[in-house]
Amino acid sequence: MTVAPSPVRVRFAPSPTGMFHVGGARSALYNWATARQRGGTFVLRIEDTDAARNREEWTEGIISALASIGISKADPAFEGPSFQSQNETRHREAAAGLYAAGLAYYCDCTREQVTEHTGSQQLGYDGFCRERGLGFEAGRALRFRTPDEGVTVVVDLIRGNPQFPNAAIEDFAIARGNGSPVFLLANVVDDLDEGITQVIRGEEHLSNTPKQQLLWRALGAEPPVWAHLPVIVNEKRQKLSKRRDKVALEDYLAEGYLPEAVVNYLMLLGWGPKDDVEIRPYAELEQLFRVEDVNGSSAFFDIKKLASFNGEYIRALPVDEFVAACAPWISSPRAPWSAEAFDPAQFAAVAGLAQTRISVLSEITAYVDFLFLDEPVRDEVSWAKAMKEGSADLLREARRRLAETVWETAPLKAVLEETAAVFGLKLGKAQAPVRVALTGRTVGLPLFESLEVLGRERTLVRLDKALAELA
Ligand code: GLU
Repeated sequence: MTVAPSPVRVRFAPSPTGMFHVGGARSALYNWATARQRGGTFVLRIEDTDAARNREEWTEGIISALASIGISKADPAFEGPSFQSQNETRHREAAAGLYAAGLAYYCDCTREQVTEHTGSQQLGYDGFCRERGLGFEAGRALRFRTPDEGVTVVVDLIRGNPQFPNAAIEDFAIARGNGSPVFLLANVVDDLDEGITQVIRGEEHLSNTPKQQLLWRALGAEPPVWAHLPVIVNEKRQKLSKRRDKVALEDYLAEGYLPEAVVNYLMLLGWGPKDDVEIRPYAELEQLFRVEDVNGSSAFFDIKKLASFNGEYIRALPVDEFVAACAPWISSPRAPWSAEAFDPAQFAAVAGLAQTRISVLSEITAYVDFLFLDEPVRDEVSWAKAMKEGSADLLREARRRLAETVWETAPLKAVLEETAAVFGLKLGKAQAPVRVALTGRTVGLPLFESLEVLGRERTLVRLDKALAELA
């Protein structure tokens, strides 16, 4: 087993796109864990050579997304951000140096000509200009002269050591016709300048790696140890994509996935602790994580499993923290009720019951809206299911008894039991129409506790309304 030199310097090198992909978040976490467990450094490098967009905004977005998953700029392991665009002089120097050393040459072939030479669009560059001795002129690309013999062995902690015959590696471009260096070269020069010892990144870059490794050596340096993380796929085994799938970390957080749950889940997306204990604090995962133990096969982004993790994290919160975490959903303007209608004491009274039932915080409103809306949100399917023949009689009887009982959970339950008995029904059956009349839905918080918080007056008004509709 190859061991990367210590102290380790890793990096996370996103190309800003305006949103933070969960796959990027996983790469960042694996780099972060690797750096921190070994007293190393995590460099954030923004690969911003696509200068058309606003750098400040992206950078802030990336830094705050990283902070949301615990990768904090304030941590001593964190270095940067650095910007690829600011290292362009060095990229150009490297290209010029390779040319001066005879390791690169200029090429004036158009794409059409290359296709014509090779007879196929699939094949790479055929080396047509290799020996033509062209000098620089606008429009000429600079190509790296790859060796004709031998193999390039990529030392990859996850994929074994894949071998790439040099003869099959085309003479790839390192600078464009306008002289600007291409990504492959810029990425290597930056890693070299930043002293990166280990590159942990997505599998989609594996095909670049033999080319990049040749560049490292041509630039007189030993390449880093590589680790290419498996692709993340959806339930149809398709690569997670922003067109098809929900991939933005921000969207998950905005929907009410707790950052700690997301971090825990992402750490397990391609790796697992040896003792199989999956739900555990990040600090433990950080110590246990080994990049060489990451599984090479594609990792399924299982939203159900994420939601189940999230439910566990929600249930583990002290109730007051749960109440605080719900604030964005229950406080106006996002809440479906007005600010005046919301009663924090009533919410606090049922919060603990809701906490055990939801797996994503955004689900909270449907459990408690019956308390804060003038009229319950009526779910028609629930209404049709619960309001059968005889329901009106049952509701009338329940109403009569509820008008007189002591308003506490136990006597409320007794009233419903007695009502059920009158009609020869089980309690569960008798509860359904009452629940739908009061909350609009067949599923919800325990009924008697709900009634207690709703209060006698509102309960009777709602029962009357349901009875009027059934009449
Ligand atoms: N900027 C590249 C990307 O966002 C990352 C390249 C790398 O990690 O080497 O895909």
